[in-house]
Amino acid sequence: MRMGLNRRIPETLFDGHGFGMAYEVDRVLYEMQTEHQHLVLFEHKFFGKMLMLDGATQVTSKDEFIYHEMMTHVPILAHGHAREVLIVGGGDCGIAEEVLKHKSIRRVTQVEIDASVVEFSKEHFPEFTKPVLGNKRFDLVIDDGMKFVAKTERRFDIVIVDSTDPQGPGKVLFSHKFYAACRRCMTNGAIMVTQNGVPIFQPAELTASIAKFRKLFADGSCYLAAIPTYVGGHMAMGWATDNAKLRQAPVKTIAERYKKAGRFATKYWTPEVHVAAFALPRFIAEKVGKARKR
Ligand code: SAM
Repeated sequence: MRMGLNRRIPETLFDGHGFGMAYEVDRVLYEMQTEHQHLVLFEHKFFGKMLMLDGATQVTSKDEFIYHEMMTHVPILAHGHAREVLIVGGGDCGIAEEVLKHKSIRRVTQVEIDASVVEFSKEHFPEFTKPVLGNKRFDLVIDDGMKFVAKTERRFDIVIVDSTDPQGPGKVLFSHKFYAACRRCMTNGAIMVTQNGVPIFQPAELTASIAKFRKLFADGSCYLAAIPTYVGGHMAMGWATDNAKLRQAPVKTIAERYKKAGRFATKYWTPEVHVAAFALPRFIAEKVGKARKR
């Protein structure tokens, strides 16, 4: 469906802050109201393919590598001997594609609530779905992540919550009961990482999650990356584990594990970037420091 060049699609996530921006559309590739959310995929002259769910940018061809690499290689190489990985959300399969680069990972299970996000990603994000959907180490479950972690008998070394923001179907994925259910299906010393927003615009979202982590785990914190289309400077990724040493692993250790993992290609993640990502700027460190158990 060819649209007038001047259609502009707004990002509405930060309207509450009196801040908004819009992307000029070259071509709308796909648009629908699914059972769970409004989905639009369009071509943008600078960011390439852009997926938006309920007015929030999810993934773009231009900068997807930053988020996908930091949400996967950091927990997996910090852990050091992960075999079972659970992805909650992750519709477009960009996270699964990075996880499967680790040959030592025996099985990746993705629990996505909205089958249409995966369906349309087959056609529009083959760069993610092709290496994933045919892979025998990959399982796809269409279900609410909350229901899955509350009932599964399986146990996971890494849990990656690649969710939408805390609105609509994604809201429950920021709740105490969800984090507690994730903890129940994690092995000893396992790590959970979460998509946790942009601290400058969403500080309460981050501190609320970390406070909940600290009620359930020995170590609750976050690490950062700069992702251009998650506007607002730093993007925070929540971190929860019972092994507080894991996020203090030195560059040398991470570099050795990366070498053992075959030094697969990355465009953002390096052992140095990995370690530096846990060094929080003071304004974020102070918020994280105050995120107390309530
Ligand atoms: N990287 C993106 C971000 O940071 O905004 C998220 C990408 S991914 C597309 C988010 C996925 O989470 C979507 O496909 C959405 O359908 C899924 N999702 C939302 N709520 C869910 C739930 N309760 N259980 C499982 N998947 C859910």
